[in-house]
Amino acid sequence: MSEQSSAVPEHGVVPAAEDEVVDICRDLIRIDTSNYGDGSGPGERKAAEHVAALLEEVGLTTEIVESAPGRASVVTRITGADPDRPALVVHGHTDVVPARAEDWRVDPFAAEVEDGCVWGRGAVDMKDMDAMILASVRELVRSRRKPPRDLVVAFFADEEAGGTYGARYLVDHRPDLFEGATEAVSEVGGFSTTINGRRAYLLQTAEKGLLWLRLVAHGRAGHGSQVNTDNAVTRLCEAVARVGAHPWPLDITPTVRSFLDGVEEITGTPLPADDPDALVAVLGSTAAFVGATLRNTSNPTLLEAGYKHNVIPGSASALVDCRFIPGREEQLLATVRELAGPGVDVETVHRAVSLDTPFSGALVDAMVGALEAEDPGCAVLPYCLSGGTDNKSLSDLGITGYGFAPLRLPAELDFAGMFHGVDERVPLDALRFGVRVLRRFLETA
Ligand SMILES: [Zn+2]
Repeated sequence: MSEQSSAVPEHGVVPAAEDEVVDICRDLIRIDTSNYGDGSGPGERKAAEHVAALLEEVGLTTEIVESAPGRASVVTRITGADPDRPALVVHGHTDVVPARAEDWRVDPFAAEVEDGCVWGRGAVDMKDMDAMILASVRELVRSRRKPPRDLVVAFFADEEAGGTYGARYLVDHRPDLFEGATEAVSEVGGFSTTINGRRAYLLQTAEKGLLWLRLVAHGRAGHGSQVNTDNAVTRLCEAVARVGAHPWPLDITPTVRSFLDGVEEITGTPLPADDPDALVAVLGSTAAFVGATLRNTSNPTLLEAGYKHNVIPGSASALVDCRFIPGREEQLLATVRELAGPGVDVETVHRAVSLDTPFSGALVDAMVGALEAEDPGCAVLPYCLSGGTDNKSLSDLGITGYGFAPLRLPAELDFAGMFHGVDERVPLDALRFGVRVLRRFLETA
């Protein structure tokens, strides 16, 4: 056997990307990587070793980085044809949110194939894309063709709990792994939705920011039988009610505007952004992705006060989950302070940046081009994600991130509802389509 064929299997020895993507996805789902957010899960070590083995099998050198026992991420770099061009990061996360088996139609960790779909926790978030990345990269390396620029391929731990033990850790402790990288692609974008009978792919170019606030109301402690006009619980409840019920005005960013324009062009009718029913009528289940990107939001999520039925406590507190439109962090905070009113402190518990990048440039052209080549006649629209991804952490290294996990989906599939939902599943055809698009993209990006 030649040295070549033992290190890098000949094409055909290892299956082509389209033929192996489904099995890779199923194998990943069967590795339970539930992330409870308190470190009690199994961790990502087993998945990281599995991923590293798939990459090493085609001759790549990988590094497994553990931020804490069991919390492992994997990174590899593929040398591009032009070493002067900045690198592109292609990343996924290997952890998943927990699943309650009794709520599911199937075992969430069995990766069964039924009705033309792979079922299981992570099938859409995001072991589907992990598998597409792995299959595309393996095929690319086996083909012996160099990508146009260096690729940094990363699989992070802990995305579902904010990335502290994954992307955040690597950005803070191992920035060398991302040396020279300026752009990134990952999850929650590139999937199709059907608008007025036409397939439109939503490319994620923006993410809302996050502000987790604590409201602390102060007052006069005392006996529950007394007249008390300075009651911390009453004050807190009034503040929480104002913050929770605040009608945040529409605040349409250029990204959202261009999404709405695209939808109007496809449907030929104006889309009233302030009418949630109209959005749902046109966008179907995708409205859930879009509705929360039209304005700031402030949702009270937890109350803490008191310790005895007849004792008025001296303070009371509440947690509020706030998400701001890119560029509106200060405005949101100022508004919440004003709504909270006197006697109520507003503390920041956790914040995460917003992202917003134009829907233009060579990388966007490469994404659009790859989608159009595989699905001629489709539309591609930019959109803003109401949640967050590991791209927030990578942005600290000056890396511009996009959501591009290409999937061609049947019109009736409630894709938005399956993120963290029950009966998560991805069509086999969508996975195969995804690797074709991704492969094209990696060769032209
Ligand atoms: Zn995810």
